[in-house]
Amino acid sequence: MKKKIAIIGAGLAGFVCADHLSPDFEISVFDKSRGMSGRLATRRAKSGETIFAFDHGAQYFSAKSVAFKDWLEPLEAHGHVHRWQPRMVAISATGSVPLPSSEKFVFSPSMNSVGKVKFSGWAHNRLFLGSPVAAIDGVPGAWHLNCRESFFGPFEHVVLAVPAPQALALLPPHADFVRRMQGVQMLGCHTLMLGYLPQNDIAADWHCAFFDDALLGFAAFNSHKPDRSGGTSLVVQTRHDWSQAHVEDATEGVAELISHRFENLTGLSPAADGYYRLHRWRYASVVQPACAKYLHDDALKLSAIGDWCLGSKVEDAFTSGYSLAKHLNAEFT
Ligand SMILES: Cc1cc2nc3c(=O)[nH]c(=O)nc-3n(C[C@H](O)[C@H](O)[C@H](O)COP(=O)(O)OP(=O)(O)OC[C@H]3O[C@@H](n4cnc5c(N)ncnc54)[C@H](O)[C@@H]3O)c2cc1C
Repeated sequence: MKKKIAIIGAGLAGFVCADHLSPDFEISVFDKSRGMSGRLATRRAKSGETIFAFDHGAQYFSAKSVAFKDWLEPLEAHGHVHRWQPRMVAISATGSVPLPSSEKFVFSPSMNSVGKVKFSGWAHNRLFLGSPVAAIDGVPGAWHLNCRESFFGPFEHVVLAVPAPQALALLPPHADFVRRMQGVQMLGCHTLMLGYLPQNDIAADWHCAFFDDALLGFAAFNSHKPDRSGGTSLVVQTRHDWSQAHVEDATEGVAELISHRFENLTGLSPAADGYYRLHRWRYASVVQPACAKYLHDDALKLSAIGDWCLGSKVEDAFTSGYSLAKHLNAEFT
């Protein structure tokens, strides 16, 4: 009989963990969203004949560890990952200066496509989308997940692959690592998505801009990334400390503030006639990580993974999911 493992969260950490767990396990992955990939997120929109795609979460990522590079290699060989050397600038109230550019990676044709690629290769893993887990019930070794009044289980082991504050809401308070998790601090972020129709297109001499500003943090032309098509799509992100202080503010007011500041600093028009929408991330980045690759309670048969274990980056999420899979393979098989 295969041992049953449930993974809550189909972001990168969750599906990398599922991907590396031994086929001796029966794995079920649950996510509250209708799609996979979590903060590797892409919004698609259409205005008239023009199609837009906005990577409104992570923009690009680096790969330093051998394990991550090895995992990316076949994805790159099949065109699911591209290298990108964006033209970068730093923009402040006094003007803009070019920044040294370094090679980045992007998933292709959109940041969220990696989840679909991985899922299409899963013969044995089961995926439940649109399934928010409201509670973990039962006893160690025989856990049940409560999703919208449907119950799944029993599971021998449960992995929480969700942002730390969301994991805390699901964990029994006596789990070994609860205190460590309580020390994790995450910040929000607002992303304004701007899509321009051809007759009102805008152009700049940069692909990505870092702002020296109290409100704006970063902007990127998504449509300039490799393997993208459609109309000019721009995302403008706030500083995460600003968003944390304004996380409950009304979206219209926040969008207006971002637009005005963006126009003042760049001289580019934020009057996007194809698409204009704000997205709020309640948990975007990590100020204080858990400083462990994963958290694990052997007695309770519960673990937690995510970028927040190590930092705020795509590679941190990978390392966390990959490391826990190695641990569970060794422990259970
Ligand atoms: C605006 C923004 C910009 C960023 N820019 C970059 C960048 O340029 N470079 C970089 O390296 N990183 C960047 N990041 C960070 C990067 O996106 C994350 O590090 C990485 O995607 C985290 O993956 P994860 O699997 O740990 O978590 P997530 O991607 O958050 O996955 C968690 C999943 O859990 C699901 N979930 C939550 N609660 C439940 C529940 N109760 N039941 C079921 N499912 C649940 C969520 O729907 C989600 O799919 C950025 C993030 C944001 C938001």
